[in-house]
Amino acid sequence: MQQDDPIITLVTETAPIKTETHGGRAKCLQRLVRLSLPVPLTVALSFRAVHDIAEGRMPDIRALLKPFGAHPLLCVRPSSEDPDWGGPSAVLNIGMNDAMHAALSERIGIEAATRLYGRFVRTYAIHVERLDPDVFDDLPMSGPAALEGALAAYQDETDEPFPQDAAVQLAAVLKSMARAWRGTTARLLRQAKGAPADAGLGLVVQEMALGLGKGGVCGSGVIQLVSSGTGRLRITGRYMNQSQGREALQDSGEGALYLARDARGPSLQDLAPEAFEQLVEYCGLMRFRLREEMQAEFTIENGQVHVLDALRAQRSSRAAVRIAVALAEDGVIPRDEALCRVDPRALNEMLHRQVDPMAPRDVIGKGIAASPGAASGKLVFSALAAQACHARDEPCILARRETGPEDIRGMHAAVAVITERGGITSHAAVIGRGLGLPCAVGVTGLIFDMKEQLLRTRDGRVFRAGDIVTVDGTNGDILAGEAPLHEAAQDDAFQAMMTWAEEYCDIGIRANADTPADAEVARRFNAQGIGLCRTEHMFFDPGRLTVMREMIFAREGADRAAALERLLPMQRADFIKLFNIMQGRPVCIRLFDPPLHEFLPADRAGMRELAEALSMPLSDVTRRVEALSEYNPMLGMRGVRLGITMPEIYDMQARAIFEATLEASRNGAPVVPEIMIPLVSAKREVEMVKKRIDAVAAAVKMETGRDFTYRLGVMVETPRAALRAGEIAPHAAFLSFGTNDLTQMTYGLSRDDAGKFMSEYVKQGVYREDPFHTLDTEGVGELLMIGAERGRAARPDLTLSICGEHGGNAESIAFCRDVGFDYVSCSPFRVPVARLAAAQLRIRPTLPPRALKTS
Ligand code: PEP
Ligand code: MG
Repeated sequence: MQQDDPIITLVTETAPIKTETHGGRAKCLQRLVRLSLPVPLTVALSFRAVHDIAEGRMPDIRALLKPFGAHPLLCVRPSSEDPDWGGPSAVLNIGMNDAMHAALSERIGIEAATRLYGRFVRTYAIHVERLDPDVFDDLPMSGPAALEGALAAYQDETDEPFPQDAAVQLAAVLKSMARAWRGTTARLLRQAKGAPADAGLGLVVQEMALGLGKGGVCGSGVIQLVSSGTGRLRITGRYMNQSQGREALQDSGEGALYLARDARGPSLQDLAPEAFEQLVEYCGLMRFRLREEMQAEFTIENGQVHVLDALRAQRSSRAAVRIAVALAEDGVIPRDEALCRVDPRALNEMLHRQVDPMAPRDVIGKGIAASPGAASGKLVFSALAAQACHARDEPCILARRETGPEDIRGMHAAVAVITERGGITSHAAVIGRGLGLPCAVGVTGLIFDMKEQLLRTRDGRVFRAGDIVTVDGTNGDILAGEAPLHEAAQDDAFQAMMTWAEEYCDIGIRANADTPADAEVARRFNAQGIGLCRTEHMFFDPGRLTVMREMIFAREGADRAAALERLLPMQRADFIKLFNIMQGRPVCIRLFDPPLHEFLPADRAGMRELAEALSMPLSDVTRRVEALSEYNPMLGMRGVRLGITMPEIYDMQARAIFEATLEASRNGAPVVPEIMIPLVSAKREVEMVKKRIDAVAAAVKMETGRDFTYRLGVMVETPRAALRAGEIAPHAAFLSFGTNDLTQMTYGLSRDDAGKFMSEYVKQGVYREDPFHTLDTEGVGELLMIGAERGRAARPDLTLSICGEHGGNAESIAFCRDVGFDYVSCSPFRVPVARLAAAQLRIRPTLPPRALKTS
């Protein structure tokens, strides 16, 4: 073997080893060598070498073995480009044979040597020669009989004695590991973690540093300086006397010691203080020079420390944030790099409670993960029951076929919501995200029996009202019973990261907020304004719902005017609150866009209630509901169509906005409200609405003798509005793309029904992703580009934004940024996620590609 052969090389300070050719482990070992850490002699085999081995072209094994001397004892470990992609298990103690057994018996004692040999024979037989593990079932586990039995069993099965030549053993191990990498399961597993189809495998062959012996402290373990759960400084790991590999971490933990002094039991610090100090120092050095928190695997041989391997320390999301912030604060990495060390989606885990990822999960149903976070509680099947539970201080999970305005109170009372129907933009999903309420929609695997008030699982289990379940809204799972949860953690590290992200973010981040509570959350996350206030959501509250229905139900203009007069002060008060909370930051108010079905009672009981509230005969209510019912309400009388046919509604809203503007400007910064017209498809709609709104503004100015300004804009959520943006823009100060409806209409795909088949579509590769979740940059994206281009051509100062759910999705933000949008607007709880994603988009091109993952 050449010392500097790029295919097979000794791991030295200068050897030509690269992550892309030899894998992350080999590269990391070289870095440890450069730090002069006590790393046992190691040889690295490149991806090419391993590829050749898998194809049957073996390298010169004798040459490979030469650096290890006449009687080598070795281990082989995988070295994939990204350690997260895994690889075949390490094989230890290669070179173990009768002669080595005799020699080791002297050195470490016959018992330990026999155990080692016996174990190696089994490992070799099962993992290298692929013998059936049953062959060894009836053999004793320890002692000379175990070894003799294993050797005999091996010979029986293979018709050959156990190979005594280290070269033969090593060649077989290399071949089996190279081939294992090509197995279908291994390939699918790593591809699921983002590995390319042709990802290579390198291998490292290392001299064994035995954690066994007779003189002084001998053992092995792992060490890291931080807690994987919290990221806080805490020396963690385990050590075990007379052990190898990761035995100290085995489940039983029997005989394992803590590392640092610990009240719970004996520690390495007490047993071997010098070795302990050395290990801590090595980890500190690695942190500083490899610029990462590492977990080191070590052995102690007669008091002497060896560092065998080091990996990036495992970490939860909250730990990832704390570690990155601490590294930046300690000057180890710059802030921009710290920002890129955290997956924005992982922030969701910090903003909401999460199911303990290590806990067992009894999944009884799976839905679309519509709103992140987790909660456990008693099952209830109606909003009323949820309110009753809430009154008794009992957490409850609201299960509905789908939700509507009547469920809002119940949603407020519940700790989580699940629905049988719906998709990522259906009612329950949108409201759930706004409230920060865990929510899974379009649940499959569970039958919702609303009549009997129970859920039935595929395997025949039944969960009745009052039974405890857990909703994991982060991944859409419904779990039986109460699962252990991790609390949300918007701690100092999180705050620091958010502040840094803001400095780098070069696209505006606003929040979709419908209520003062939403706006408070938006402020807390420092949203730069409200990008979408869905005014109809302000009327989901039961006290107001009736007035809203009265207005919708009114046949005569006079009746409608009366209802609107009652709605006006409510709206004005709402807007004053929003303006005050946002303290002069822009607030974009969308005029009513209620798909009427969302505001009509769905069942007989609801109709009876409405009849009572409106003092109307039930038959009248039923008739009116029928008359107002639409075959396709999402394409029916909603949005600007309502504003054109019942203009008094928008008049009332405009007045409420302007009066609130004047009121809120009295004490604070002058408010410049933004008014947005929904579901536009024609220029004429905009002209007509604009004319009336301008007239209301003039009237309010006249009545009050005070002046104010406002901006009128258009929500682009029909394909036609995007195509005709050139003629709409001259009448609009801004265009905000409502990509929920735009996706629905571009695909001809109902946002409320898509959940039923979306997972199948994605599974079969028909769609790469759920387009309601990740913006379809090809189709819907083209409409966005056309709209932006034609709009800006007609009006260069046009403000462009997106306010559909995609506004909080990292990939979609990248697209919006590229197209030159001014801001994105998303649910308040997604503001931090969007901000970090946007900051990373600005920083990434200047960073070395994922260099630190492979340290
Ligand atoms: C949209 O359609 O993208 C949107 C934001 O409006 P809504 O979800 O209220 O229809
Ligand atoms: Mg819409």
